[in-house]
Amino acid sequence: MKKRKPKAALITLVNVIVILMLLAGYHFEWDFESGSSKSSNSTKSDSMSAMHSDRLRVIFLDVGQGASQLLISPSGKTMLIDAGNNDQEQAMLDYLKLYGIDYLDIVIGTHPDADHTGGLDRVIDHVDAGEIYMPRIQANTKTFESLLQSIKNKGLKVKTAKSGLVLDWDEEVEVTMLGPVRTYESSNNMSAIVKVVYGDTSFLLTGDAERESEADMLDSGADVQADVLLVGHHGSKSSSTLGFLQKVSPQYAVIQVGDNNYGHPTPTVLERLGKLGIEVYRNDLHGTVEIASDGQSYQIMTER
Ligand SMILES: [Zn+2]
Repeated sequence: MKKRKPKAALITLVNVIVILMLLAGYHFEWDFESGSSKSSNSTKSDSMSAMHSDRLRVIFLDVGQGASQLLISPSGKTMLIDAGNNDQEQAMLDYLKLYGIDYLDIVIGTHPDADHTGGLDRVIDHVDAGEIYMPRIQANTKTFESLLQSIKNKGLKVKTAKSGLVLDWDEEVEVTMLGPVRTYESSNNMSAIVKVVYGDTSFLLTGDAERESEADMLDSGADVQADVLLVGHHGSKSSSTLGFLQKVSPQYAVIQVGDNNYGHPTPTVLERLGKLGIEVYRNDLHGTVEIASDGQSYQIMTER
């Protein structure tokens, strides 16, 4: 037993060093960001806050195996799409603090699966929200019940996420829902699909939508083209069909993925993205990925 002590101390020291390195990594990113922004005297706190930046920021938060996107509009409006799994609740609250978010104009729970909406109950408990959208599908899970309870406690009323909706968020940014086009039995295919357009730049955020939903979206005649694609269902081969990828025709793809036993992201999807010449960013390799737009071009920042 006595021998354990020095080992534990060493591990603690290593942990501290790792945490310091992580923090340093964050500082590097934000320093880099403020250094390259238009205003030469902008400070770190300016770039981290949700206030005016004349840019649309789409932040793919690293929540391990799960998904969460935080969007901050040019005028400082905020939107959160998903919030990772139950074990990411504290991480989510930390992220909101890091980015200076104390109010969410729009919250979207793409579908009831725990890796997307597990952390959402705590977020709603802690931060007030204007509107919340979720698809019309239930789940008999504690996670989902807890989310509904948090929504009820805040006096919020869930609006149905479905194709054709135009969300009122920021005057300069167009936010539309392209899916779900119809009702599916599969929770993944019921995923809310959000397209965000700012000037000449565009993002398509697809939740866990699979090939059926992708096909229906194409059939619906919706304009799916987007420069930045959140790859469906963590890079599962049940999503990202070639036809869909060709129509979206993205320049950049983000895969929200962490340690998992599902084989995500699959070689099939990675190969497909590679062959189409799409630049891929992954939470498991790059940590949190932020893609910011000034309406004409993109600035990509990664945690590592
Ligand atoms: Zn998922």
